[in-house]
Amino acid sequence: MKTRTLLFSFLAIALAGCKPSAEKAAETAAAPTAAKSGKPQVLVANYPLQYFAQRIAGDAVEVRFLAPKNEDPAFWQPDEAAITAFQNADLILMNGAGYSKWADKITLPESKVVDTSAAFANNFIEVRDATTHSHGPGGEHSHNGTAFTTWIDFKQATMQVQAVSDALAKLVPAAKDSISKNTEALQGELESLDARMSTLSRRLVQYPLVASHPVYHYMARRYGLNLKSVLWEPDTVLDDTALNDLKGILAGHRARWMIWEGEPNKENVEKLGTLGIQSVVFDPCGNVPASGDFMTVMKANIDAMENAFR
Ligand SMILES: [Zn+2]
Repeated sequence: MKTRTLLFSFLAIALAGCKPSAEKAAETAAAPTAAKSGKPQVLVANYPLQYFAQRIAGDAVEVRFLAPKNEDPAFWQPDEAAITAFQNADLILMNGAGYSKWADKITLPESKVVDTSAAFANNFIEVRDATTHSHGPGGEHSHNGTAFTTWIDFKQATMQVQAVSDALAKLVPAAKDSISKNTEALQGELESLDARMSTLSRRLVQYPLVASHPVYHYMARRYGLNLKSVLWEPDTVLDDTALNDLKGILAGHRARWMIWEGEPNKENVEKLGTLGIQSVVFDPCGNVPASGDFMTVMKANIDAMENAFR
C-alpha cells in the first residue's frame, strides 16, 4: 500500500516535468522490492517465463524474477520481501503444473495470477514413486506429483508464450501491436526448435537413454524418447551406490547415453565411460543460464543432441 502511494506521487512529479530528480528520489527512498521504473510490474515463477515476457513486452513492463541463481526455482522458498513483491505485482506469471511449490502456502491476488500452462492442463504427466532427495539450498524434495518441466516440449512452450502474450496485451493495451509482432517471432523460433527435435526423434527411437534427473517427461513424450531417470546432480561425484543404481537400470534398459541438466564433472564422465555410457547436456534452463539466454541454450542443447545421435 505504502509503496503504491509513493509510486504514484513520484509519477505525479515525473509528469510535472521533474523526471530526473524524481527518479533519484525514488532510488533512495524505495524499498528493495518496490518498483523502480514506474512500469507495470510483472513477477515470474521461472526463467523461461522471464525470457518470454521480456521478449514479448520489451520495455513496456518491468519483468522481475526473484529466485536466486543457484536454486531450482521450482523448490525455492521466497522470503518475506519476495512474497510482498508477488502480492503487489500487476501481473504474476506462473508456470503451472504444480511448479512453484511455495505458492501452495501463500495467498496471491487471484485476479493478477496467470497460469501459463492451463491450456494443456488436461495433458499433464503424473509422476509416482519418485524418491526423496535434495539439491541446492532448498532442502529435501521429491518429484512425485505433476511433472513440471513443461517448456521443453516446445509445442507446450508456444502455448505458454500465448498465455504470456495474452496477459501482457491486457496489461499494456497500448503496446498490443508490438506484443503481437514479438509473440509471432518468438513462437516461430520455438516452432523451429520443435521441428528440429521432431526430426531428431526419428533417429532417437533406436537409442534407450538415461537422464541424470527426472525433468524430461514432457520432452520424452513429445519427441518419443525411451528414457529412464536417476537422481543425480552434474557436479556431485558419483559414488558406488549411484553407479549400482544405474547398473540396475541398465540391466533392463541398454542405454549408451546419459542426458545431463548441466555440464557433468570430468570424473563422472569418465566413470560413465567405463560402463559404456556417453554424456550429452540438455539444460532445461529453469533458472538464468551462466551465459547466453533461453534461446541460445535451447539451440546448444539441440546441437549437442544432433551431434550425439547422428
Ligand atoms: Zn530433484
